[in-house]
Amino acid sequence: MHYFSTSKKSAPVSFRKALFNGQPNDRGLYFPSQIPALPTNFVESLKEKSKAEIAFDVIKPYIGEEIDDSSLYQICAETVGIEFPLVKINDSISTLELFHGPTFAFKDIGARFMSLCLQYFSKDSAKKTIVIVATSGDTGGAVANGFYGLNSVEVVILYPKGRVSRLQELQITTLGNNVTAVEVDANFDECQAMAKNALADETLRKAANLTSANSINVARWLPQQFYYFFAYQELTEKQIPPVICVPSGNFGNVCAGILANRAGLPCKQFIAATNANDVIPQFLKSGEMKEKNAVPTLSNAMDIGKPSNFVRILEIFANNLPNLSEFLVSESISDERTIETIKRVYAESGYILDPHGAVGYCALEDYLKTVDAECGYFLETAHPAKFDVVSEILGVEIPAPNAANELLNKEANKIEMNADYSAYRKLLLSKAND
Ligand SMILES: *Cc1c(COP(=O)(O)O)cnc(C)c1O
Repeated sequence: MHYFSTSKKSAPVSFRKALFNGQPNDRGLYFPSQIPALPTNFVESLKEKSKAEIAFDVIKPYIGEEIDDSSLYQICAETVGIEFPLVKINDSISTLELFHGPTFAFKDIGARFMSLCLQYFSKDSAKKTIVIVATSGDTGGAVANGFYGLNSVEVVILYPKGRVSRLQELQITTLGNNVTAVEVDANFDECQAMAKNALADETLRKAANLTSANSINVARWLPQQFYYFFAYQELTEKQIPPVICVPSGNFGNVCAGILANRAGLPCKQFIAATNANDVIPQFLKSGEMKEKNAVPTLSNAMDIGKPSNFVRILEIFANNLPNLSEFLVSESISDERTIETIKRVYAESGYILDPHGAVGYCALEDYLKTVDAECGYFLETAHPAKFDVVSEILGVEIPAPNAANELLNKEANKIEMNADYSAYRKLLLSKAND
């Protein structure tokens, strides 16, 4: 297996190289040279397999011999060692809860897998590896947690002052050890510009292995296939093949699901639910891609005007738009409907949705009304306690996971900085030579 760039200008690379590079320098995205077909009896045998075995079988063709089998199995086992419950909300709608990881969002799964692969590849390197992250919210905590405590890896996270939630900030600042939190008196774009400067800095590159851990990295994207198989293990006969609805921003999560389907996982229909940022729903209707600036919504992790992973979906469908629009439905849900859905689902079933999951629930419900499918499931991508707005909407206290409450008692540490590249560079050099 090798990975080519969707822009087709950069040379193909190994999995290891794709992991360290993050993005090809022609600004495309890495894509596997083939989509491996799972063995024909794989789906029937899912119920007998453990989660680690399933993860191993799904990912192995993408890694080839670059990681030995026993280490890869270990990496898989550590990645999927959390709960992935499929919870029934009512007779027609269930939810696959992906928020049982350390930072209560699905990004934990990809971040954990990537960090373990990175540790595997850097174990014989004399240089330190520095993971550079700029975050607007969920990514920072997931990456910090995934890389926490790894040998010879330093993580430096930039986040914009006053623009992340209290819980999100604590997830970044309370770890310590090899995780350094830098609060920048600037907006997210300026943080990202500092991170990009560092990645292109020759002196820094000589001093350390530099890598970024943003969500387009293949090592974060590919393991997101795992939980679609785990959900299949729990489906009842009536639910097979499933209608699957994915709350989407950058479209990495739904793209991983489509990849799983191409490898052999049965699915009846995919729905990509967006908030008011409706570039893809509009594209699938009109055939015209009009990128827009993101508008802020309640489901802020999906406030994206240029969904970067969509090129991978186009690649899977060889740019055949009619085939794609038949397979993938995409609907935009307003904040008003998001609020209405959170209230109604709570009143009817007691289930508390987070704003992202509510977008997914609403789009799935709409879809089921228009077709003769009876039921489906959506992904619940984050825990509702992560978003203060949910308790404001419902007027009740949202019980937070224990680990979230424990954060409040931990010591928080951060470095404060202006958007000043030289200060940031100095910090990175000191980490490289520590
Ligand atoms: C990142 C994120 C999403 C969007 O996922 P994509 O893969 O970018 O489409 C949805 N919900 C939550 C809670 C997220 O953090």
